[in-house]
Amino acid sequence: MLDHMPIISMKLPLRIVLLGVMVTMSVTKTFAEDDYQEKRQQMLVEIKQMMAMTKSYTGEAALDKQVEQALLDVPRHKFVPPDSRVFAYENTALPISHRQTISQPYIVALMTELAAVTSESVVLEVGTGSGYQAAILSELASHVYSIEIVEPLGLQAKSLLQDLAYDNVTVKIGDGYHGWPEHAPFDAILVTAAAEHIPEQLVQQLKPGGRLVIPVGRQGQTQSLRVLTKDANGKIKQRDILSVAFVPLTGKH
Ligand code: SAM
Repeated sequence: MLDHMPIISMKLPLRIVLLGVMVTMSVTKTFAEDDYQEKRQQMLVEIKQMMAMTKSYTGEAALDKQVEQALLDVPRHKFVPPDSRVFAYENTALPISHRQTISQPYIVALMTELAAVTSESVVLEVGTGSGYQAAILSELASHVYSIEIVEPLGLQAKSLLQDLAYDNVTVKIGDGYHGWPEHAPFDAILVTAAAEHIPEQLVQQLKPGGRLVIPVGRQGQTQSLRVLTKDANGKIKQRDILSVAFVPLTGKH
C-alpha cells in the first residue's frame, strides 16, 4: 500500500500539468481557427475590391452571395503547404509543389462567378491542383468532377477533400484535355491551366445553356480568360474577360 503512495502523489501533479497543456492547446487552437476566419473575411474584402475595380473588363461588379459564403467557409490554409500557411489568405497564387500553384483567390472567385454554378449544376474542373477550387465549387454545385494530370497532386487533393467531407467531389488522375465523357454533359466546365487552343471535346461536353471558363494562350505570353456559352441550339458565343497568367495545360495533344 505504502509503496503505491508516492506513485499516486507523483502522478497527480503530472495529470494536472498534462491537463494544463491540453487546456492551453485547445485555447490556442480555438484562437487560431477564429484568426483564420478573420483572415478569410479580410480576403473577401480584398476580392470584392478587385471585383469592383475590374468591373469594366469582367462585366461582374459583385459576387453572388453564395460564392462569397463559399470563400468564407473553405479553409484555404488546409490546401497550401504548411510552410506557406501564413500566406494562405493573401490574395495571391502560391506554390503547391511539382511546379504548380494554387490560384489567386480573386481569380478563383471570378472564375466561379463566371461559371454561374447553381445547386443543380454538374461541374467539371480540369486541373485539381490543391483541391481548393474544387472545394469552392463543391459548396455551390450538385456534383464536381475534377481531373489532375500530376498523380501525387491529384491523390493528395483527393484525400484532403475526403478528410474535409467534400463528399460531392470526385477526383481522377488523367489528362483533362479530353474531358470526362462518362459524366458529360456538364453545366459548367472550369479549366484552371492555360490552353493554347480550346479543346473541342470540352465544348462538346458542355450542356446547352452551359458555360466553359478557360484561360487561353501560351505561357510567357498574354493569356486571356475566356467564357464560352453554349445556347439551346448548340451555338457558341465567346467573350474575353481579362488578361491572366496561368501554368500551362500539359499532356500530349
Ligand atoms: N485549381 C487548382 C487549385 O485550386 O489549387 C489550381 C490549379 S493549378 C493553377 C493548374 C493545375 O492544372 C496543376 O495542378 C496542373 O498539374 C494541372 N494540369 C495541367 N495540365 C493538365 C491536364 N492536361 N489535365 C489535368 N490537369 C492538368
